[in-house]
Amino acid sequence: MSDLRDLYQEVIFDHYKHPRNFHRIEGADRVAEGYNPLCGDTIKVFLKVENGIVADVGFEGCGCAISTASASLMTEAVKGRTVAEAERLFGEFHAMITDPKEPAHHDLGKLEVLCGVKEFPTRVKCATLAWHTLHNALEGKAEPVSTE
Ligand code: ZN
Repeated sequence: MSDLRDLYQEVIFDHYKHPRNFHRIEGADRVAEGYNPLCGDTIKVFLKVENGIVADVGFEGCGCAISTASASLMTEAVKGRTVAEAERLFGEFHAMITDPKEPAHHDLGKLEVLCGVKEFPTRVKCATLAWHTLHNALEGKAEPVSTE
């Protein structure tokens, strides 16, 4: 188990140091902003949705390692998926890190590296910020997200 935990931390650190899709999307048709006052994380998510598919996704912002890595992993996970699949991933990811009764087995692929966040309640909001913001962008909500 500890080897797995080390591997997870390596992946998180890599995504923090080299965040994927860390840029604004020119011609984005949906944009949403999020803020986690508990930690000070801010994020802006850019989406381009074509025929119900997340054709492109990017983000900008300033946050801690967990929020940055989570945003990076989120963009990789939803790119090329349908809007419905992206929303389903959001639900499953949220359950994985917030529901103590949630079984340890998920089908979330790489996103599972963040499952350890469950043990640190103050970090849960860091990990879910990008997803809440994505959710608002998908729904086309203009109001900024706050995790509070
Ligand atoms: Zn944070």
